[in-house]
Amino acid sequence: MRDRLFSIIYKYNLHPNRDLGQNFLIVPDIIERNIERAEVGEKDTVLEIGPGLGVLTDPLSKRAGKVYAIEKDCRIVEILRREYNWPNVEIIEGDALKVEWPEFNKMVSNLPYQISSPVTFKLLSREFERAVLIFQLEFAERMVAKPGDKNYSRLSLMVRAKARAELVERIGKGAFWPRPKVDSAVVVLEPKPPEERIDLNENLVKALFQHRRSTVSAALKKSAHMLGLSKDKARELRQVFSRVPHSERRVFQLSPEDVLEIEEFLKKEGVI
Ligand code: SAM
Repeated sequence: MRDRLFSIIYKYNLHPNRDLGQNFLIVPDIIERNIERAEVGEKDTVLEIGPGLGVLTDPLSKRAGKVYAIEKDCRIVEILRREYNWPNVEIIEGDALKVEWPEFNKMVSNLPYQISSPVTFKLLSREFERAVLIFQLEFAERMVAKPGDKNYSRLSLMVRAKARAELVERIGKGAFWPRPKVDSAVVVLEPKPPEERIDLNENLVKALFQHRRSTVSAALKKSAHMLGLSKDKARELRQVFSRVPHSERRVFQLSPEDVLEIEEFLKKEGVI
C-alpha cells in the first residue's frame, strides 16, 4: 500500500497541498484497525471525507457495500479515477462542507484538520451508526473531555449532548507523509439513543463558553449581547441571571443536562 502510494506520488509529481491538510497515512495497520473498529461489512454504506490517494478508500471498497468519497482537490479526483477501478465507490468532487452528503450509516475518515469542527457538527446533525475518525490529538482530546476537565469546551459539550465519543488510539507524526507538525488520534463516535440526545440552543452555548472559566451568572451577564439583548435589557436582567440554575458554578463544569436546565429557565423568564 505504501509502495503504491509513493509510486502514484512520483508518477504524477504530486506536491501535497498543506492548505488542504494533505498528510497521507502510510501505516497499513492503522488503516486496518480503523476499518475493524467501524465494523464495516457488506450491508454498510460508508462516507469518507478526503480520500486523498485512496489508502483508506481501497480497503473500504473491499469490505463495504458502497463507499462515497468526497474530495475537494480536483487533481486528486482525476488521479483516483485513473488509478482505481472500484465498482462500488462513488467519488464526489467538491467541498465536504458545501456538497450535500449522501445517505450513509458509517463514516471512516482521516480528516483534513482544518475542517474537523464543522464536519463533526454536520455529522452530529445526521443519523448514523458509527464513525471512526482521525483528528489532530488536541482536538480529539477536547472532543472526549468531561465536564470539569481543563480542556472541556463548547465542542466537548455539543458532542456529549448527542453522542458517545472515545479516544481509542494516539498516532505519532511518523504515520503520515508528509509528517504533520502535530500528533493525531483516532476517535470512535456513536450517537446516543434518540431519547438520550439533547438539543441545545447554540447561541446560549456560545454565549456561556465565551467565558468558560467564569461562573454561569457572570458569563451570562458578560455575553448578554450574544443572546440578542441590548445593554439596557441586559442590565435589567441582572437579577434573573443571578437566579439562573447553576448560577455559581463555572461554565466548564456544566453537563448538557445542566445547560438544558439553564435554557429552560431562561425561556420561562422570556429571556431567550
Ligand atoms: N484519506 C487520505 C489518507 O489518509 O491518506 C487523505 C487524508 S488527508 C489528511 C485529507 C484529504 O482531504 C486530502 O485529500 C484533501 O485534499 C482533502 N480535503 C481537504 N479539504 C477538503 C474539503 N473541504 N472537502 C473534501 N475534501 C477535502
